[in-house]
Amino acid sequence: MGSLQKDHELENEMVSVTNPLDSEELRRQGHMIIDFIADYYKNVEKYPVRSQVEPGYLSKRLPESAPNNPEPIEKILQDVQEHIVPGITHWQSPNYFAYFPSSGSIAGILGEMLSTCFNVVGFNWMSSPAATELESIVMDWLGEMLTLPKPFLFSGNGGGVLQGTTCEAILCTLVAARDQVLRNIGRENITKLVVYGSDQTHSAIQKAAQIAGINPNNFRAIRTTKSSLFGLTPDSLLSTIKSDVEAGLIPFFLCATIGTTSTTAVDPLGPLCKIAKKHSIWVHVDAAYAGSACICPEFRHFLDGVEDADSFSLNAHKWFFTTLDCCCLWVKDPSALIKSLSTYPEYLRNKASESKLVVDYKDWQITLSRRFRSMKLWLVLRSYGVTNLRMFLRSHVKMAKTFEELVASDKRFEIVVPRNFALVCFRAVPSVIKLR
Ligand SMILES: *Cc1c(COP(=O)(O)O)cnc(C)c1O
Repeated sequence: MGSLQKDHELENEMVSVTNPLDSEELRRQGHMIIDFIADYYKNVEKYPVRSQVEPGYLSKRLPESAPNNPEPIEKILQDVQEHIVPGITHWQSPNYFAYFPSSGSIAGILGEMLSTCFNVVGFNWMSSPAATELESIVMDWLGEMLTLPKPFLFSGNGGGVLQGTTCEAILCTLVAARDQVLRNIGRENITKLVVYGSDQTHSAIQKAAQIAGINPNNFRAIRTTKSSLFGLTPDSLLSTIKSDVEAGLIPFFLCATIGTTSTTAVDPLGPLCKIAKKHSIWVHVDAAYAGSACICPEFRHFLDGVEDADSFSLNAHKWFFTTLDCCCLWVKDPSALIKSLSTYPEYLRNKASESKLVVDYKDWQITLSRRFRSMKLWLVLRSYGVTNLRMFLRSHVKMAKTFEELVASDKRFEIVVPRNFALVCFRAVPSVIKLR
């Protein structure tokens, strides 16, 4: 190879490093990636839904170290197809029925691209005003779609924030509630604080309690039964609280669930909140999966009583066309979050923050740096519109209803608990199966 040609090649490689956002190169590679993604979805039903690989399969196929020299995107994409796709469990396949849905959509994927495109680190208002303001706007939009009570919205002195996941949302609210109590009774009393949920509450609450330094003996997973359709009964909550108070403990946090993970059970918010209020307990409502359905007027009754809760969250990345991650959290009293989660180092000081006219979302969450998640939620809301989003949710519920009827009419199976949303809990009836 002539040294001139070598120099030229070296120069080309240098270009990609010195201008990693070269627009023409981005256009060329970007189109290839979009084509790859479109082809993936075109063929997604051809793959086994569950990956068939053995543990450790990938290290057998990939080199031991990172390449020293650049490799072309064509080669990389070929490897994605050959080595990565076989190890993918195809969550977006129409034949995927595990866990809860993870609803991707064109708007979700493209919204993600746009948010990545700007790659802003929107910790406070000044670091990217649009990222903050769009988030506040879409949270009020979605809050209104859910007919959340006004005090949860910015327009009613509350407000919404996009967290990564429900685990983070619950941790943030639990910490806010913890500090609110401890400010009154003294930090040394942290060992007396008690957290309540049911045995159906998501493990996120236990994790949050662990991280927040709650005494592990003071985590109550109150027993539920089939007779109450696995909902937390007000009586059992009340008696648990009473015995804790008698023991000198201090109840401070209840996580109620709309649509539990195992059976989509619904805790009776109204009566639970009444009891909680009497004992100054912060109530968080976890509607991670089922919350989305409540934008349909016919399902909104599941949220009855939410007006007496303190915070409410749902996962737009579950059943709302928005790619992971996107957990929507609303709080009535943002200042409670801010008191627990805010820091204001010298290098972040700015006039806008000092004016108190802006939201600095870094103070509403665990991390400082944050993604521009509202972009994808905005795209979803605009690309589908409220009417079509409702239609989409209803179509899932309708399919589940049909399935439930089919199962109920077959003697080999039984419905374990009546269906609330789009999850059907059924089981084989062993005695009947044996007879066959
Ligand atoms: C899925 C789910 C969670 C956990 O959500 P992450 O976003 O993964 O943290 C919590 N609660 C309920 C009721 C869920 O369905």
